Amino acid sequence: MYEGAIQDLIDELGRLPGVGPKSAQRIAFHVLSADPADVNRLAGALRKVKDLVRFCTTCFNVAESEQCRICRDPRRTEEVLCVVEEPKDVVAIERTGEFRGRYHVLGGAINPLEGIGPDNLRIRELLGRLGSGAVRELILATDPNTEGEATATYLALMVKPMGIAVTRLASGLPVGGDLEYADEITLGRAFEGRRAV
Ligand SMILES: [Zn+2]
Repeated sequence: MYEGAIQDLIDELGRLPGVGPKSAQRIAFHVLSADPADVNRLAGALRKVKDLVRFCTTCFNVAESEQCRICRDPRRTEEVLCVVEEPKDVVAIERTGEFRGRYHVLGGAINPLEGIGPDNLRIRELLGRLGSGAVRELILATDPNTEGEATATYLALMVKPMGIAVTRLASGLPVGGDLEYADEITLGRAFEGRRAV
């Protein structure tokens, strides 16, 4: 449609999640007319995220060193471990201010239709962490949709024989939804009202 660099930018933006062709075009023209300093900052942020950000070797949250900020925090208890699908879920739960334990980020949920089984997630690493004996409660905070429920059921079956209490967030979360879209109060209540599975 356009020629050269502006079309390349529209094409690249259009490949991002949640950005349709119209948005891609709008963003591209915004960049074109923006202050060069602002554009440089954006370009720098894009490059830096790939250079600096990696995954925590313990919980697989995003981190800028070997371990993430939460795993490095000695004030957080190791007795309660909260399992989530993605780093954005850690952020959603942290916003509630209800949780003082640690996390484990699976990197997705079991989804047979997309060929994602337990081996594709960080479940082996989770079981390894639980083997240390420090964890007394495992909170399953996977998304309240089909894949999240299947993942929670699978994990409960694996972990209960280890003698660890397994809990699931209380109802009240929008069914079929994504944890990150729950507001802080709803998510906080779901946390407080978690039940044994
Ligand atoms: Zn971590």
